[in-house]
Amino acid sequence: TIPRSDENGDVFPQMPPFDYTPTPYRGPSTSDLLKRRKQYLPTSVGPLYTNPLNLVEGKMQYLFDENGRRYLDAFGGIATVSCGHCHPDVVEAIVKQTKLLQHTTVLYLNHAIIDFAEALASKLPGELKVVYFTNSGTEANELALMMARLYTGCHDIISIRNGYHGNATATMNATAQFFHKFNVVQTGIHHAVNPDPYRGVFGSDGLMYAKDVQDIIDYGTSGRVAGIIAEAIQGVGGVIELAPGYLPAVYSIVRKAGGLYIADEVQSGFGRTGSHFWGFEAHGVVPDIVTLAKGIGNGAPIGAVITTPEIAKVLTYRYYFSTFGGNPVCTAAGLAVLKVIEKERLQQNAFVVGSYIKERLLSLMEKHEIIGDVRGRGMLLGVELVKDRQAKTPAKAEMLQIIEQMKDMGVIIGKGGFHGNVLRITPPLCFTKEDADFLVDVMDCTMSKM
Ligand code: PLP
Repeated sequence: TIPRSDENGDVFPQMPPFDYTPTPYRGPSTSDLLKRRKQYLPTSVGPLYTNPLNLVEGKMQYLFDENGRRYLDAFGGIATVSCGHCHPDVVEAIVKQTKLLQHTTVLYLNHAIIDFAEALASKLPGELKVVYFTNSGTEANELALMMARLYTGCHDIISIRNGYHGNATATMNATAQFFHKFNVVQTGIHHAVNPDPYRGVFGSDGLMYAKDVQDIIDYGTSGRVAGIIAEAIQGVGGVIELAPGYLPAVYSIVRKAGGLYIADEVQSGFGRTGSHFWGFEAHGVVPDIVTLAKGIGNGAPIGAVITTPEIAKVLTYRYYFSTFGGNPVCTAAGLAVLKVIEKERLQQNAFVVGSYIKERLLSLMEKHEIIGDVRGRGMLLGVELVKDRQAKTPAKAEMLQIIEQMKDMGVIIGKGGFHGNVLRITPPLCFTKEDADFLVDVMDCTMSKM
């Protein structure tokens, strides 16, 4: 078990009980895995921990390492595990479909593919009824950007500086926070000032940030654009809620310039924000194209683009195809995820428990100077750490220390933000109030030791 006190005898917060005995691990040793990972899988994003965890089993909101130690997963994979690790209904759907037919494509008829497309379309408003399946969020956004360009006949795309949209050519260029590090420059992508109420130059004035989008169109394009791509809440960028009024204003500016609004719902969709099923709903706008991935498969690799029949026509006579996108095993998983979210009222749980976590984090902010900002909605939450609240100097090293210590006390949490100083909380939506207390108590304990 995880040690329940430190070397000074200070007692750690108690993890909520969980009635499950992990399967005994008989795989290679952790030191052997470390050695081979270093050789064959050197990771470009860098390890999350000094000593990475060897995770061997998952059960709902918990993960187990090779010694059977239990960890509360407050990162939810990477905002991917929406129902809970290895949720029985999702596992059953995957196994059933795998035994029946592991692979076919949209070239043929198969109900697992069509059922999920129909279920997705039924969750979206208005004319958003045509679905394309992909294998990831990157591919979904690449396709969405290409469709916007084809539909409008324009090349210019606007993205927001702190957004994250993927790691292929167009999406990497739309990801201003990283693209300068990769030599994949694509013309026609313009980066708008980030409407960040905490660090942004215009504070919470959404309309001032929107004016920057108008300026980009006026000064940097022919006056017409293909569209804008935006997350409703920026996830990787440090869980940033866009300044109020920004999205509706930008939507109308881009529309007037002939462009489309692409809502990247890869993190903010599928009930994660609690108050709404889709992140864009909280902004009172209806997108022209919606992109999905991460939580829609509970870990199964699937993404999707949903648009209107009118926009979809641009692909009708062009040969667009993905071999594995919409694989029936993944679509069966996706349909099971949707059913579980409804059956177990997980969106409502994301709202209730997520609001409770946020409330507790705000109280923690009164106690710990290192917390500069607490933000987000539902179970998409961020805690920005600073050395000095006035200067907002990023506390990056301290954050890494906190992440490491929280892991030692049994909590896995995410990191992010342009300055690498934001704790990201994106747990499986089945997280309980007891889990929330344990998470915040552990965070409190680590911050008290700083
Ligand atoms: N869009 C958003 C908002 C994301 O958070 C991510 C991944 O973190 C992506 C797109 C890219 O998705 P993937 O890693 O599945 O390609």
